[in-house]
Amino acid sequence: MPERKPDLDSLFGARLQGYHVIMNQPAIRAVLVLFLLLTVPAVGLHAADEPVEGQLARVVGLASTSPFLRERASMLLDGIGPRPAGTPNGLHAEELAAQTFRTAGVPLVFAEPVTVPMWQVHRATLTLVEPTEYEASAVALANAASTPPQGLLLEVIDGGQGTPEEIAALGDAVDNRAVLVRSGVPEGHRRLHRSATYETVARAGAAAFLHAPPDPASPARSGTVTLDGTPGPIPALGISGRVAAWLSRLLREGRSVRVRVTLLADRVPATAHNVVAEIPGRRPEEVILLGAHLDSWDLAQGAGDNGTGTLVLWQVARTLVEQGLRPLRTLRFVSFTGEELGLLGSRSYVERHREELGSIRAMVNLDMVGEPTGFGAMLQPGVLPLLGHLARRLAGFGLDPEPLDRAWLHSDHQPFLLAGVPVITLRSRLREEVRDACHSDRDTIDVLDPGRQQRAAAVVAALAWQLATVEELPTRSLEPAEVVRHLHDAGITVDGPVDRVPGGRRE
Ligand SMILES: [Zn+2]
Repeated sequence: MPERKPDLDSLFGARLQGYHVIMNQPAIRAVLVLFLLLTVPAVGLHAADEPVEGQLARVVGLASTSPFLRERASMLLDGIGPRPAGTPNGLHAEELAAQTFRTAGVPLVFAEPVTVPMWQVHRATLTLVEPTEYEASAVALANAASTPPQGLLLEVIDGGQGTPEEIAALGDAVDNRAVLVRSGVPEGHRRLHRSATYETVARAGAAAFLHAPPDPASPARSGTVTLDGTPGPIPALGISGRVAAWLSRLLREGRSVRVRVTLLADRVPATAHNVVAEIPGRRPEEVILLGAHLDSWDLAQGAGDNGTGTLVLWQVARTLVEQGLRPLRTLRFVSFTGEELGLLGSRSYVERHREELGSIRAMVNLDMVGEPTGFGAMLQPGVLPLLGHLARRLAGFGLDPEPLDRAWLHSDHQPFLLAGVPVITLRSRLREEVRDACHSDRDTIDVLDPGRQQRAAAVVAALAWQLATVEELPTRSLEPAEVVRHLHDAGITVDGPVDRVPGGRRE
């Protein structure tokens, strides 16, 4: 494939590349924001005096009828497609994000560089050697160790769902084997992230990790084996549910199963970007941050994961500019990079802006967004009445009037949550087709239902507008130790450094 050369200089320009440096200086930032407030007609110069119901109705109407989301879906998914962080396609997607925010009329658009270990796969194969010869389709799991060039010839053992109990029960039999693990929710456990089972298996002495979905009809899936983008100790491949079921049956029948595992891949340091866009509020010291990761895996178009969240984010930005009122709080939109490799963009954002995190009054993360069903918050019971009220106001969407206060991990809200930033969630229902396609070669534009995306955009736009305009927003920043304690009480283990959390769940 000819390499398309991204022209980041013309995209972000020296002015915008240097922009974040300037904007990190509070005094200059305040003056700039004031200047922009006085000079940007797109955001409106008049405070709203119409009732909030009227504003919400207008926001919902605009988001529901705009052609913007469908246009951008075609540009992002058909136009660029796979966009792993740090690759030329990843950079093209970042250019498109910046251009999209500008086209939407968002006054401030800039990029913040993030160094990522670009995941480059040269070879990922699983060859069955015994009892018969067969070349199974396999995908590389990111950040896993490479094998020697000729691969590793290994006996396979079934590790069930990879819980610590199951792996311990296998004892020495795990040594130097390829351990097959099925994802899912083991009995008595929360959903185990693949990184958690990978770690269990590697620690037990396995030579390779084979990961498969529980359903025989599901495809091989990619994913990272470490949660923070660090290199893992053993090779790892994703295989299809069908191949996993076959190997597992052979093992149950007492057959010896041997495979050749080959994984040749590099982690190449590369520069990717978080693309940030901002509608300055009348109280610029308070920020509502909405984020969605822009990066995807290389297997398909990243339509569900995370074209859905990205398109909703872009449509919301467009809508909130278009409706013409200036928010009370600053609305900040971030297309994060490197989520798939280990939340690298959001981690970098939290590190870079640690001193100003207190200004973020709410963070809303959009990762795999389906039909909107309601709202939620993480460790923020005080905000639930406001969210319930909003759910009832948005009567046409049939939202659950009872918001949930429930924390989970493993997406871009995680670094914010662990740093004590209030996190608010959109709850949504993904169609089986979208969920099943996630991280696989089925994740194409055809699994999307633009109508659902547009309804989600309308609900998120209303949520963002409510959060950005309500006089008193009852969220509060938490101490990181308090967050860890609450998570622990909820059965989510945080051990070691607070940003490295095995286990946990995803709704
Ligand atoms: Zn995602």
